[in-house]
Amino acid sequence: MSLTGLHILLTYQCNYECDHCFVWGSPRQTGVFTLAQLEDVYRQADELGTIREVYFEGGEVFLYHPILVKAVARAKAWGFQAGIVSNAYWATTQEDALVWLQPLVEAGLDSITLSSDLFHGSEMETPSSQRGLAAAELLGLDTGSISIDPPSGYRDPAYSEPGLPVTSGDVMYRGRAVEALIEGLPRLPWESFTTCPYEDLANPGRVHLDPLGNLHLCQGLVMGNLFQRSLTQIVQDYDPTTHPVVESLLKGGPAKLVQQHGLDHKPGYVDACHLCYTARQAMRVEFPEVLSPNQMYGEFAGN
Ligand code: SF4
Repeated sequence: MSLTGLHILLTYQCNYECDHCFVWGSPRQTGVFTLAQLEDVYRQADELGTIREVYFEGGEVFLYHPILVKAVARAKAWGFQAGIVSNAYWATTQEDALVWLQPLVEAGLDSITLSSDLFHGSEMETPSSQRGLAAAELLGLDTGSISIDPPSGYRDPAYSEPGLPVTSGDVMYRGRAVEALIEGLPRLPWESFTTCPYEDLANPGRVHLDPLGNLHLCQGLVMGNLFQRSLTQIVQDYDPTTHPVVESLLKGGPAKLVQQHGLDHKPGYVDACHLCYTARQAMRVEFPEVLSPNQMYGEFAGN
């Protein structure tokens, strides 16, 4: 496995509660990395020897701005490239955005990607994101946008390359999107979803790490826990042909997951992720360690 990117979910908490959110970000969510835990993560990533880049995501990472600044500085001290994904709520003016970003630039931040779409504002070009991007460019950061289309149920395959982050196109129907957005959307027969279109599950190049130590191949699909086994051990031990969920997905996508585990299903689903996420929810009792944590399946206080 050539794992080069570690996407760290600094927190599950978010000031928004977007309908399309994969990770169920919410003000009511729990789970935040501490600096001591992050230092241990960097040590483990260094020991693995192949990680080049860490990306800080959430939830909303700017909710923990001082910790984020220190986390970026320490990542750079360990020799990693450092990037951030944010919803840009903090960019109330360009002048203010510069104040938020300046300490991150001084800490060595390389890039920032901001959400700009109708999930994060009333215009596709969300004003706070435009201000944040303008400020970031003034400070010399590499910039990018995540702009997700309103839900239509059709995702152009051109927008997706397995294993790469999603930055555009239709919603992927997993996480909160399965509860909030699927009503009235067209369905395809469940047997037609015979591949995972979006993740390279056999040989992942990047994985997500949450504040509970879970290393996610896809949100809620775990390959191990970094607080229980080292990253090196998890990577060395990873065998997609014996992982109880990945094995089915590689053989025949979410449809195979349903067939092999004899799961109840409806005639149709909006996309592969809709079937996969629904099937995985039904399998959590049997495979709690690899279909985890509760946060990724919308189970948290007040939800
Ligand atoms: S939800 Fe399932 S089908 Fe969708 S990207 Fe994740 S693993 Fe693949």
